[in-house]
Amino acid sequence: MSDAKPYQVLARKYRPETFADLVGQDAMVRTLTNAFEAGRIAQAFIMTGIRGTGKTTTARIIAKGMNCIGADGKGGPTTKPCGVCEHCVAIMEGRHVDVMEMDAASQSGVQNIRDAIIESVAYRAASARYKVFIIDEVHMLSTSAFNALLKTLEEPPAHVKFIFATTEIRKVPVTVLSRCQRFDLRRIEPEVMVALLRKIATAEGAKITDDALALITRAAEGSARDATSLLDQAISHGAGETTALQVRAMLGLADRGRVLDLFDMIVKGEAAAALAELSSQYAEGADPMAILRDLAEIAHWVSVIKITPDAAEDPTIGPDERVRGRSMATDLPMRVLTRLWQMLLKSLEEVSLAPNSMMAAEMAVIRLTHVADLPTPEELVRRLQDAPPPPKGGGGGVRMAPSGTQTNVQSGLPASTHRGPSGPSAHGAQTAVALSAHALARYETFDDVVALIRAKRDVHLLVEVETSLRLARYQPGRIEFTPTPDASPDLAQRLGARLQMWTGTRWGVTVVNDNTAPTLAEARDTTATALNAAAVEHPLVQAVFKAFPKARITAIRTEAAREITAEAEALPEVPDEWDPFEED
Ligand SMILES: [Zn+2]
Repeated sequence: MSDAKPYQVLARKYRPETFADLVGQDAMVRTLTNAFEAGRIAQAFIMTGIRGTGKTTTARIIAKGMNCIGADGKGGPTTKPCGVCEHCVAIMEGRHVDVMEMDAASQSGVQNIRDAIIESVAYRAASARYKVFIIDEVHMLSTSAFNALLKTLEEPPAHVKFIFATTEIRKVPVTVLSRCQRFDLRRIEPEVMVALLRKIATAEGAKITDDALALITRAAEGSARDATSLLDQAISHGAGETTALQVRAMLGLADRGRVLDLFDMIVKGEAAAALAELSSQYAEGADPMAILRDLAEIAHWVSVIKITPDAAEDPTIGPDERVRGRSMATDLPMRVLTRLWQMLLKSLEEVSLAPNSMMAAEMAVIRLTHVADLPTPEELVRRLQDAPPPPKGGGGGVRMAPSGTQTNVQSGLPASTHRGPSGPSAHGAQTAVALSAHALARYETFDDVVALIRAKRDVHLLVEVETSLRLARYQPGRIEFTPTPDASPDLAQRLGARLQMWTGTRWGVTVVNDNTAPTLAEARDTTATALNAAAVEHPLVQAVFKAFPKARITAIRTEAAREITAEAEALPEVPDEWDPFEED
């Protein structure tokens, strides 16, 4: 007992100590290593990225690398700080006199930072090679502090280095940015994260199943620190192997397979079954908010698989689920998925505000089962075109009403046993979809590019691309087009920049003259007009409107230009307040 070391949280114990330990940040590590080896260490660095990607940890490692003297006291700047010399040790413990860590987000910080910088740049480092200022959340600095900083950055004394970190790079003045070497720290990819967690678990002698690690990875959303903390909680739960079941309970999550079941029931309009399933997951401890969040995540995931089939290959998702995801992506029209997503977002808000979250979740599920099952205007037209002519007296071969409305929803309501408080709040689990690396292979046609813009929800760019771009030539990575007269002059440049940002690969986007191909909107307009004419003339459409008085065909427009972006609008307009009981 006496020789037991004090317990150290895993996130601290396994905090990276050298560049080699920085998982998932290969590009940055390579650039830094080259710069150090060439003896060209920048005057100032700026790290940006979401919380938990290791910005301050990286800053400390760089500070160590600059000041390390090696175990023998004779070494120079290095990317492999020894970790044992006086400087390494003091920096890692945050108590080196020449390495000043400051947080611009703290009240007292701003004034101190300004004074500290002005005063201390005038003097040489006390014991280390460089005086290093590490300033966290640098975007929070006051104008006067930035001015003081700029003065120093303009005429930097050789013994002073700055390492800035920020979650909001856009708020950092360009004058400062332009004097820094910038690194964008990425969310850690699921594969890398799972491997990291496995390594830590093994080092700790802890047993944990693969699917439990996958759940933790998903919940951590790319943050190594969050993932390590969750692992810490999970393996401290008790003896024996930690299972997915335990992790789910810890996170307040329902079984993913069962959430998929629920999703399936909803899209099939099986209201009673969906309510029973929801109720049973709740009884087993799942938080209604977490269940809805999972449903939204599935709607998003299936949509992404539809556009990018590779997205199904996420290592945090089990093989059975991948198969189900792929088949849903094939079966479900994008409009249903988009509509589900929108309604789920709205429901999440309602559930978070409702006094009884389970009741609100039930109402959401009832509503979802109805709307998800409505045929879209496109389907309707297709069905009508395929259908045999109606027999006299109305009716016909088309099923008009969603099956959900035929269920006696009232009897499907579980007894109201949900008076308790909602379960523990869970960490949002959003699948981080990687659209990078082997990016170009996924953009075989220009349609794939448009789908990407849509998936990224850049509505402004989407409208421009659909209405102002006459495509001349396309190959993955290269786009040539003639702009319409009213096109924005920097469209090519912005499109290129966006695609590069999203795919991680350079795109050549050039303007050529005299191409007269129709824009996407023009092409669609032509098709829509034809469809519309066909649809309206069909006698069955009249029957549809009779059976479905609240449905309107709103997708087929003659003025496509400003409307096209609102995919979801293309659904029959069923008010969200639609009362499922009114048809009984
Ligand atoms: Zn050292």
